[in-house]
Amino acid sequence: MSHMPYIFVPPAPREELLVTAGERWNTVLAARPQLGAAVELQRRLLHLVIELKQTIEGGRLPRLSMPPRYVAAKLSRGVPALAGEPIPIPVHALTATLVRLCAELAAGGAGEAAEHIQAAIESHNLDAGSLLAASLARDQAAIHTGAVHRGLAPDLVWLVAELAVGPFAHALQRTILATAARRDAVDAPHADDPVWRALDDWNHGYCPACGSWPAMAEVVGGHRTLRCSFCSAAWELTTYACAYCAEDGAPFVTAAPDEARKDRRVELCRSCGGYLKTVDTDVLSPFPLLSIGDLETMDMDMAAMEHGYAKPAMKELARPSSQR
Ligand SMILES: [Zn+2]
Ligand SMILES: [Zn+2]
Repeated sequence: MSHMPYIFVPPAPREELLVTAGERWNTVLAARPQLGAAVELQRRLLHLVIELKQTIEGGRLPRLSMPPRYVAAKLSRGVPALAGEPIPIPVHALTATLVRLCAELAAGGAGEAAEHIQAAIESHNLDAGSLLAASLARDQAAIHTGAVHRGLAPDLVWLVAELAVGPFAHALQRTILATAARRDAVDAPHADDPVWRALDDWNHGYCPACGSWPAMAEVVGGHRTLRCSFCSAAWELTTYACAYCAEDGAPFVTAAPDEARKDRRVELCRSCGGYLKTVDTDVLSPFPLLSIGDLETMDMDMAAMEHGYAKPAMKELARPSSQR
């Protein structure tokens, strides 16, 4: 079986996304009715995300001065394509969604903590542009510091910014990386495409576009496809090893918490203490439905965490600078 360095996930139109999402939520609810509130909140959040995705795709993306050879050189140094790039963000559209996401979170269980974030954004005490830029740059430290300084819940600020920037990050990822993959889809490998060649050598567990860790792995036709938790990129490693530290020996094990459901597994690494959920599926989830996959497999997060495993912190990436 040939290795697929980067997999082009076909975009789905809004109506199709909503139908597929609805079916998946119904399946979750049928099996675990106690997740009713969580599903309802996710439904409201994802509707906003899908709406913003439409807006972004209907508009014009910023012109990035990132020629294929430049992107390929970064990738071959193990640096994600977007890392350190000063990228103009459509602040106005994203901030409108950011505020609405806060309101939905406030109504859906996060209460005052989310209301405080909304108020801080609306009063410009928390600068939306800076927050969105820090999220795109995956700068956990900056967001944490900025939130704590203003008495806001850091994890919630991180989440709401990530949801608002996700559709933009996804569009950038596709612009920069998918071009090479789409040409490949015809079936002749495009060895002459520098980005494609560099992706072929990308054997890191963090996303080649944005540097985030995978939310989980979706296995389609035997391809263990890592799925970025932020921009939804899909890529496969050349080795069966821990996505976080590359351990491939005895400390790295794959287990099915439920003997009757061998299609749902969790990879556990005793070297770094990380875990990764792995699920067999027919098709890769189009953006932004991967978060439903995350919800569907919440029981495996619980099982892994009960055994002392955790998701690692964001990888340190190069920060945008005024020159390069
Ligand atoms: Zn990514
Ligand atoms: Zn590891």
